[in-house]
Amino acid sequence: MNNKPDRNVVTRFAPSPTGYLHLGGARTALFNWMYARKNSGKFLLRIENTDQTRSNPKAELAIFKGLKWLRLTWDDDIIYQFDRKERHLEIAKLLLQKNFAYKCYSTKNEITVFKEKALKLGKSTKFISPWRNQQPACSPSKEYVVRLRVPESGKTTIIDRVQGEIVWNNENLDDLILVRSDGTVTYNLAVVVDDFDTNVTDIIRGDDHLTNAAKQYLIYKALDWDVPTFSHIPLIHGFDGKKLSKRHGAVGLDHYQKQGMIASAMIRYLSQLGWHPGSNDLISIEESIQNFKLEKIVKSPARFDPIKLNDICSKLIRNASNDTIIKEFDVFLKMAGIRTLTKSEKTILSKSLPFLKPRIKNFNELYVQASFLIIGKLFKINADCLELITKTSLSLLRELTNRLNNVIWEREIINETIKLLAKEYQIAYKEVAQMVRIAIVGKLNSPGIVDMMLALGRPEIINRFNNLCDKKNDLS
Ligand code: GLU
Repeated sequence: MNNKPDRNVVTRFAPSPTGYLHLGGARTALFNWMYARKNSGKFLLRIENTDQTRSNPKAELAIFKGLKWLRLTWDDDIIYQFDRKERHLEIAKLLLQKNFAYKCYSTKNEITVFKEKALKLGKSTKFISPWRNQQPACSPSKEYVVRLRVPESGKTTIIDRVQGEIVWNNENLDDLILVRSDGTVTYNLAVVVDDFDTNVTDIIRGDDHLTNAAKQYLIYKALDWDVPTFSHIPLIHGFDGKKLSKRHGAVGLDHYQKQGMIASAMIRYLSQLGWHPGSNDLISIEESIQNFKLEKIVKSPARFDPIKLNDICSKLIRNASNDTIIKEFDVFLKMAGIRTLTKSEKTILSKSLPFLKPRIKNFNELYVQASFLIIGKLFKINADCLELITKTSLSLLRELTNRLNNVIWEREIINETIKLLAKEYQIAYKEVAQMVRIAIVGKLNSPGIVDMMLALGRPEIINRFNNLCDKKNDLS
């Protein structure tokens, strides 16, 4: 196989910071990143914040956080589109000078009236500006927009690497606005100028931008600039085949992160969404990069399957090394605003992972299951446990504490000690186990008690048993 890059590939992810980073956006970023990495090229990040009224710093932060979480590192400095407005205007002027663009003085109201009339008469509503072929002798004081002079006839064709050949009849295309009457530049012009100035070779984005491709192509041609290749990837749909939206549950990447999804599962899942890299859903991202081909992306929308995503996550957790899990879990705790683990907690966690792993599918569940080692000062007894703490159960716990103080700290011996105590007190093993559980973790659901006892060690266990007895003394 020839893996040699054919040219200096530059891709970009160009989100508008107007909302959270959704799964579709994350996948677009990922495909751009994969394609750049495969071709030893560059992956750029451009924040399209030209619409200052809609741009929001929180959304921008969510983009950075999401990309960092997925480890989609970008090359070079981040480009802020708004900062480049002078350059955009310079190109608009150039297009005017070359007569590929013109000033249109028609007001919004005039255009609306024209369209309404055309609609009533059943005629085409395509607005042909009266200023296309005539300019006022002396510049009127009226406001104007700058429009691209789209060819009246002929066709605009792009060869999209995902969608194939797409052809537009120019007569159906409007003279698109490049500069608004308030002097701000429109998205289509800004994108072309930015992509050109940063040497973008391949535009990979959602197919909701397909019609923009025709407009952008015409701007490239007017400027006599090389047109990058286009790859418009189908959007992600929900299980019901409709565009992914809040109806299908969470669509924001941060939601999955907060739910304890591991980044490597999300990236694996997204990297396989829309094409088929093979039957192994645990395929490494490096391997997916090698197999990645834009032409292999299917034209129909991918269906988001949260069950598969969760499945990949639990399989990866099961297969991951203790070190990897601890490192990632620490990141999760920090992100969740909890705190990072102390060194001794990490050691205990490492010892506990063999019995914790089968009980968890994500980091949220790990947090719940590992709470016995994290709670520290936050130890709290759940309400449903309180009524189980009676004088009798506490004296049982005290007796167990005495006995455990004098045994070898080994699984079999601890187990036998509990069994014997239960037998002598003529109660079931599980009743003693229940008290032990309450003393260790303050709730009725937890990993096996002996597992936790061995992981925490005798001094800590005896300490927690004593604490419970003391606490109850305080209460009564
Ligand atoms: N800013 C556009 C968006 O967020 C993307 C533009 C592009 O990729 O060309 O949808």
